Amino acid sequence: MLYIIPTPIGNLEDITLRAIRILGEVDSVLCEDTRQTGKLMHHLNISKKLIAYHKDNEHQTLQQVIERLKVGETIALVSDAGTPGISDPGFLIVRECIKHGIKVETLPGPTAFVPALINSGFPCDEFVFMGFLPHKKGRQTMHKRIALEERTIILYESNHRLVKLLEEFKSSIGNERLVSVSRELTKMFEENVRGTAEELHIHFSKKEVKGECVVVIDRKANSKSDN
Ligand code: SAM
Repeated sequence: MLYIIPTPIGNLEDITLRAIRILGEVDSVLCEDTRQTGKLMHHLNISKKLIAYHKDNEHQTLQQVIERLKVGETIALVSDAGTPGISDPGFLIVRECIKHGIKVETLPGPTAFVPALINSGFPCDEFVFMGFLPHKKGRQTMHKRIALEERTIILYESNHRLVKLLEEFKSSIGNERLVSVSRELTKMFEENVRGTAEELHIHFSKKEVKGECVVVIDRKANSKSDN
């Protein structure tokens, strides 16, 4: 059995009671960074074997993990923060488990894009999650897709690249669609700002952007009559 376990994106109170119980029951925990997960486990007072499983070793590690699961081990997969599989390793192992008839159970829990979407105040009946835009190759194509996309769009972006992204939006989506940036969600200095790409560009250019950010783009004004 493989458990996919979401962990807090900032506020440690956001871990669920079920996540704590299962972390205490499994044989081992696959994690991106053993130090990071070690801190969480210490906080929860749980001692388990931690196995490094991250984007640079997931292909090599995958078959060994499948073998362990096949002989009856119970394993949990966590990421540094949020839900595994959402812009983090997870998809490959789930697909492989399904192929081998291994049971997978994903717990509901913290992920950054849901609170950012809700906080944006943009319609959330239909939305598209695009994760991180590619840094170079394919970036322009993604901007074209964003400009044409009729649903609310969610992107992940690092604090270092936020101003650049907003600058690019000034030409790709202009002032037609509003943008919302959620920064440091669930943390002490959480900030949610909405405006045009130009307004947000001015806002975030004033000082160094700290912490992690989610960017949400409103759907095209004419895509649904109620907007
Ligand atoms: N698996 C995670 C999830 O479920 O949200 C996402 C991991 S991805 C590597 C990291 C990105 O998630 C950050 O660059 C940022 O875009 C977003 N993120 C994570 N924690 C956040 C937070 N507390 N506030 C805002 N954005 C956050």
